[in-house]
Amino acid sequence: SATLSLMAEVEKETFDIEKADLLVKDLRKVYRSGKTKSYEWRVSQLKRILKMVEEKERDIIKALQEDLSKPELESYISEISMTKGSCKHALEELEAWMKPQKAKTSITTYPSSAEIVSEPLGVVLVISTWNYPFLLSLDPVIGAIAAGNAVVLKPSEVAPASSSLLAKLLEEYVDNSAIRVVEGAVAETSALLEQKWDKIFYTGSGHVGRIVMAAASKHLTPVILELGGKCPVVVASDVNIKVATMRIIAGKWGCNNGQTCIAPDYIITTKAFAPKLIDALRHELVEFFGVNPLESDDISRIVNLYHYKRLKRLIDDDKVSNKIVLGGQTNENQLKIAPTILLDVPEDALVMKEEIFGPLLPILTVENIEDSFTVINSRSKPLAAYFFTNNEDLKKDFVRNVSAGGMLINDTILHLTVPSLPFGGVGESGMGSYHGKFSFDAFSHKKAVLYRTFKGDSPTRFPPYSAGKLQL
Ligand code: NAD
Repeated sequence: SATLSLMAEVEKETFDIEKADLLVKDLRKVYRSGKTKSYEWRVSQLKRILKMVEEKERDIIKALQEDLSKPELESYISEISMTKGSCKHALEELEAWMKPQKAKTSITTYPSSAEIVSEPLGVVLVISTWNYPFLLSLDPVIGAIAAGNAVVLKPSEVAPASSSLLAKLLEEYVDNSAIRVVEGAVAETSALLEQKWDKIFYTGSGHVGRIVMAAASKHLTPVILELGGKCPVVVASDVNIKVATMRIIAGKWGCNNGQTCIAPDYIITTKAFAPKLIDALRHELVEFFGVNPLESDDISRIVNLYHYKRLKRLIDDDKVSNKIVLGGQTNENQLKIAPTILLDVPEDALVMKEEIFGPLLPILTVENIEDSFTVINSRSKPLAAYFFTNNEDLKKDFVRNVSAGGMLINDTILHLTVPSLPFGGVGESGMGSYHGKFSFDAFSHKKAVLYRTFKGDSPTRFPPYSAGKLQL
């Protein structure tokens, strides 16, 4: 009987295609009842999420410590406060977002009126990632709820403490008849991907993005893919070097030790300016993390051994063995890698071939700063591109000539915090966008509605099409 109860337990634990099918059926029933469409339901659920994040702040910080040894203040700013901000913004704006928008009509429909009605899509799936496990799970869920959908969240198994806390807390705080969490890895996600969803919102790598899109195509399900890429930072020589350096460090090592989708991936500067920039980076890095950054509590560790080894491979690559100008220290037991700067790495070095997603920062040099545009455009389109300069013409040229999901001039990362800007990629860095109203729109269908009366038909509209009508 012990074996039987163990089997029953295993049976309960495995989330397979049948369970996924039942889950979606249940949610569809609830969605069809109209419950999630009301303004009141949406507001009540957004308020519950806000309350949850406020009340469970300590638990969230603890889970992030466990998964990434994320510094407390960093967790507070980039996960807790950002999620709360997103919830509050949705609560403030929801009424306006839900209002049908008047649209102009044309002479062919006169007299008539027209409007664009935002309607929920139905039952949607959010597949999330591990680097900001709370924000990147809850932010799309907030959009899905604001738009009136039933939603399933699948957090990343790579941040297990955060994943199980999310499952526990959402079960406790929100309406589980319409908002559910499924924990798990490839098997569970694959079972979910077999189902018919009305939208899939995926954050993660392009490799899995392709799997998600292929699965979605079977059901003609639209997708939003929030992917990554190598985000360049161009530094001209006319900058305030101290401010520029501090902002680059904050965006790279101060955000999850480089494990951020919009972290600076590589720098491009001129040959002449590179030594000065390296000196400034060295100086500020010591100010921020001390002389032994592996001992610093102000920097996250690498998420797991797999990613540690992946990054170690990039450092140990023969092609960069004599290119490390700063850092390079590692500690496998603690999964720690120090901020590491590499100068003039060849284009075919591993560190330039894939997204780094960690604390390594290669610097490429060019003769003229404008040459950087060609370097960037010769690669896949990044999720973000940064440019530090005081030259107005160069700023304009950068915006006009460089393609990227988003851009920020004279800083890093912060464009993500502006809710009136869409956040998303282009080309290999993804498709679709969210944040603020863009999140609401991401999970809504824009329904075109034309209202006519029984007046105002031109006789030419109706057969028979006699010669006389043609002359009208
Ligand atoms: P990950 O390994 O956590 O994978 C993401 C999700 O995909 C997880 O929920 C995982 O369970 C699922 N998954 C993994 N393999 C799968 C498979 N074979 N079939 C179905 N589902 C599967 O995250 P990751 O891929 O390591 O994430 C890192 C990438 O995410 C980087 O490229 C980074 O730039 C990108 N990223 C993008 C954003 C953004 O907002 N655009 C944010 C964070 C990370």
